[in-house]
Amino acid sequence: MKTDEIRTSYLEFFQKKAHRYVSSDSLVPQNDPTLLFTGAGMNQFKDYFLGLKKDMTRATSSQKCLRTGDLEEVGKTAYHHSFFEMLGNFSFGDYFKAEAIAWAWEYLTQVLKIPVSRLRITVHETDDEAYNIWKNTIKIRPDWLYKMGDKSNFWPANAPKDGPNGPCGPCSEIYFDQDPSQGEGGHIEDKRFAEIWNLVFTQYDRQDGGKLVPLAQKNIDTGMGLERLACVLQGKSTNYETDNFQKINAAVARELKIKQTPENATRIYAVSDHARAVVFSIGDGVIPSNDGRGYVIRKLIRRALWHGYEATQGGLEKPFLYAVVDDICAVMGKVYPEIVENKQSIVTSLKGEEERFLVTLERGLDKLHDYISNPPKGVHGKLDAAFAFELYDTYGFPYELTRKIASEKGWDVDEKGFERLMEEQRKRAKDATKISGAIFTVSDLEKKISGLAATRFLGYESLESKARVLFAEVRGGEGVAVLDQTPFYAESGGQVGDWGVLEGRGFRGEVTDTVKKDQLFIHHFKVLSGTLKIGDEVTAKIDAKRRDSIMRNHTATHLLHAALRKLLGTQVRQLGSLVAPDRLRFDYSYSQALSDEQVRAIEDAVNEQILLDADVTKEEKSIELAKADGAIAFFGEKYGDRVRVVTVPDFSKEFCGGTHCHSTGQIGSFYIVSDSSIASGTRRIEAVTGSGAVLYARNLRGEIGKLAELFKTSPSGVADRVVKLQESVKKLEKEKRQGVTATADPKNILSSALAAGKIRFASYRLGQGAEVEDLRRLSDAIRSMSEKTVYFLGTENEEKIHYVIGLSPDLGKSSLDAREAMKALSNLLNGSGGGRKELVQGGAKNEGQFQNRWNDIVENAVRYLKEAEV
Ligand code: ATP
Ligand code: MG
Repeated sequence: MKTDEIRTSYLEFFQKKAHRYVSSDSLVPQNDPTLLFTGAGMNQFKDYFLGLKKDMTRATSSQKCLRTGDLEEVGKTAYHHSFFEMLGNFSFGDYFKAEAIAWAWEYLTQVLKIPVSRLRITVHETDDEAYNIWKNTIKIRPDWLYKMGDKSNFWPANAPKDGPNGPCGPCSEIYFDQDPSQGEGGHIEDKRFAEIWNLVFTQYDRQDGGKLVPLAQKNIDTGMGLERLACVLQGKSTNYETDNFQKINAAVARELKIKQTPENATRIYAVSDHARAVVFSIGDGVIPSNDGRGYVIRKLIRRALWHGYEATQGGLEKPFLYAVVDDICAVMGKVYPEIVENKQSIVTSLKGEEERFLVTLERGLDKLHDYISNPPKGVHGKLDAAFAFELYDTYGFPYELTRKIASEKGWDVDEKGFERLMEEQRKRAKDATKISGAIFTVSDLEKKISGLAATRFLGYESLESKARVLFAEVRGGEGVAVLDQTPFYAESGGQVGDWGVLEGRGFRGEVTDTVKKDQLFIHHFKVLSGTLKIGDEVTAKIDAKRRDSIMRNHTATHLLHAALRKLLGTQVRQLGSLVAPDRLRFDYSYSQALSDEQVRAIEDAVNEQILLDADVTKEEKSIELAKADGAIAFFGEKYGDRVRVVTVPDFSKEFCGGTHCHSTGQIGSFYIVSDSSIASGTRRIEAVTGSGAVLYARNLRGEIGKLAELFKTSPSGVADRVVKLQESVKKLEKEKRQGVTATADPKNILSSALAAGKIRFASYRLGQGAEVEDLRRLSDAIRSMSEKTVYFLGTENEEKIHYVIGLSPDLGKSSLDAREAMKALSNLLNGSGGGRKELVQGGAKNEGQFQNRWNDIVENAVRYLKEAEV
C-alpha cells in the first residue's frame, strides 16, 4: 500500500466512525509561543481537551510534526525523523478506552491486514481497564501484552511525579515486530520492536502534590507515525525505503551526483529527512536565523549540507538542497498544498542560506587551520572544547568535521568537554520543544468565560451599539467584560484592539484594550464611575477617530503588501504586521535592503491607488472560492471554511478579518518612514498614512527648519553648508595631524631653533593654504630678527612645494653658502631653485616630499652645520 493510500484509508476509516476530518495545523503553533514546533496531532485540539470548545466531539487528522528533541535520533534509528506525519483520532468527552482500542485493532488487523502475530501491546502498569480490554475483548496473548511504567506509558511521562498539573493519563502502545525470525518471545524494548501507535487515555486531572483526580470529561488522543506504518506495510526495514522517501532519496542522489550505494545510504537518508523538515517549516513561515525556530531550521540545513559534503568526499561547492524542493512538492504537495503555494520563497530562502553556509564553512576551516598552526597559550595537540563547540555552534561545523581535520594534523579534540557543552544545549532544545505544562494552563478568566455564547461583532458597520453584559468582573478600579455583541474590534491579524467607552446605569468605563479568546471579545476597562454586573445593559462606543486611523493603516498595509509583490516579485511574503493608529509595520521576507528608487516606487504605487480612490470591497465566501479568486492568505495561518476577502480592484486581494476604509482615497497619503533588516532574510517597513503622514512631514520640516536657522541659511541651503563645513573640518584635522598652521610667529620659530655647533638651525612648515608670498614674508621677518642662524622654511599646496633657505645677516661673510644647500636639497626633493649666497628659494611638484623627508632634512642640516664648524 502506498503512503498516500494509507493516509487516506486511515482518515476515511475514522470518518466512517463519525470523526470530523480536520486538516493539519501549521508546523508553527499559532497561539503558543512556548512551543517551537507542532509535535503531535493533539496540539491543535487543546481547547477541546479542556472542554473550552464543545462544537465537536470526535476528530481525525494527519498532522505535520517536527520534533527537535529527536534530531539526534535521525539516522541512528530506522524510524525517527525530524519531520513526520502523525495520524490521529481524538475523542473529546465522547468514546473512551473500549472503542479506542477496538478501532485501532480493527484498523490494523482488518483494514490493513497486519498479521496479529507481528503486533505487541503495552499498557500502563496501573491501567487494569485497558489491560482487560486487550486481554478479554481483543484476546491478545498474555505474553504479548506488556505492563510498563510511567516513563513509556504515561502522558506526560513525568506528570504523576513532577507535573505539570492538568489533564494526563495512561497510554497503551502498539508495536510491530520487525524480525519474527528471532522467535516469539523477546522483550518489548528490544530493537526488533518498533512503536507504531500510541493511544493516550486522558482521564485524570493532575493536581498539586501529584494527586490524580478523575476527569469529568475523559478524552482519547492517539498518534501513529505515517512513515512507520508505511514501512510496516511495505515490508521495509527502514522508513527511508518507503515509496515517498525513495523518490526524495533519488532526487538527493541526483543533485549530489552520487550513487545510492549502501555506504552512501545513511547520508542520503539524513539529507532527505532534513530536506522535508526544512521545506515544510519554511513553507509554514519559518526563516533560517540565529534563534528559536529559525535556528533549528538553520541547523537542519547545515547538517544536510554537511552530509552532502561528506557523501561527495568534500566535492560540494554549490547549493543543492534547493534543487530537491520541486521533488518534495511533487511527492507531498497534493496533500499539503502550502508547500507548492510557497515553493518560490522556499527555494529562494533555502538557496540563499546554502550559499551563506558554504562561505561560513570556508571561514570556519580557516579558523580551525589557524588555531592548529598557531594555538593559544597552554594548548598542545588537543582542541579546546569551547573552541570545538564554537565551530559547531557559530560556524555550523559538524563535530565529525572538526575531529577529522584535527586528526589529519595529528590533533585530538576534548571530546568529553564538547559532549558536555552539547548536552547543555540539547537540554535547552528539549526544554523548548517539550509539550510543556503551559499547553494546559488555562487562566482563571478563560475558565470563567468558557461556555459563553460567541460575541457578535458589529464593528464592520457600527461604531456604537447597545449590548448585554454576559460576563463582568471589576477589581481595584479595573475590569473585564464580555458582551453579547460589540462594535469593539478585538486585536487580531496584526490590527490592535479598539478603545472607547462602556456606559450603563450609573456606570462608565474607559475601554483600554479589546482582545479575543476564540469567539469571545474581552473588553478591558478602567472604571470611571459606578460598577458593572452580569445582565446589565450597556452602550458600547468605540473611539471613532482612533479607529479611522487604524483603518487607514490597515488598508494601506494591504496596498503595501501588493505593491511589494508587484515590484519585488511574488516571493515576497508577509511575515507579520502591526496595524496601529499612528503607524503600520510590515515584516516581509526579502534578502536585500531596498534602494531609494525602490522605496520611491513602492510609495508611488501605493499613493497611485489612493489617488484612484478605488472602492475597497469585503465579502465572505468559501475558502475554495477565495483561493480560486487568487486571494492571498497569511501563510502558516489556518482558516475556517468561510473566509472574508478584502479587495482593491485590480491591485490587492487578501484574506482578512480587519476593519478597512470604504475606498482607498480615505487613506489620504502614504509615506515609508523606514526599511530595515530584523533578521537575515527578513525586513521591516514602517510607514504612516493620513494625518500621521502629515505629522511626519511636518516634523521633518520642523527639524530642517531648525537646522537652517542654526546654519543661518534657507532649508534648501543646508546641504551646501554642511558640505562646506565638512570640508573645512577635514582641512583643520589634516593640519592638526601635520602639526602646522597657515600663519606662524617668527619669534617662536627662532626660539625653538636647534643648536648646531656654535650656530642654530631653525625650521618651519607653513600649513595648507599658505602662499609663496607668506613664505617670503616669513623669511624676511626671520632674517631681520635672527643671529647666527640658518633657517629652512617650506610651504605646500595640492600641486607644489616651495622652500627657502636663508642665513642670518651676521653669517653673510661666513663660509656657508645657501646655494650649496639648494643643490643638495633640489636633489633630495626632486626640485630646482636658486638665489644668492645668503638666501635661496626653490620648488617642486608636490609628491609628499615634506611628509616623507622633512625630518631627515632637518637632521642632516644640523649634522652638516655641526661638522662645518662655522
Ligand atoms: P518513540 O519512543 O519511538 O520516540 P514516542 O513515544 O516519542 O515514540 P509518541 O510521542 O507517542 O512517540 O508519538 C506517537 C507516534 O508518532 C509514535 O508511536 C510514532 O509512530 C510516531 N513518532 C514519534 N516520534 C517520531 C519520529 N521522530 N519520527 C517518526 N515518527 C515518530
Ligand atoms: Mg520519542
